[in-house]
Amino acid sequence: MAVPKRRISKTRKRKRRTHWKLTAPQLVECPKCREPKLPHRVCPECGNYKGKKAIEV
Ligand SMILES: [Zn+2]
Repeated sequence: MAVPKRRISKTRKRKRRTHWKLTAPQLVECPKCREPKLPHRVCPECGNYKGKKAIEV
């Protein structure tokens, strides 16, 4: 297994992590029940996806 020759300095590590941030999750409104939900997921409130009932709640 390849092993780095030198340890990355504290400064270099910290500089790299200046771009490492948490982002708030995207929320979209469920067209059926108007609840905020994650995009491309079945709505946890009413179980609908793409205008059809996908799961029972
Ligand atoms: Zn819904």
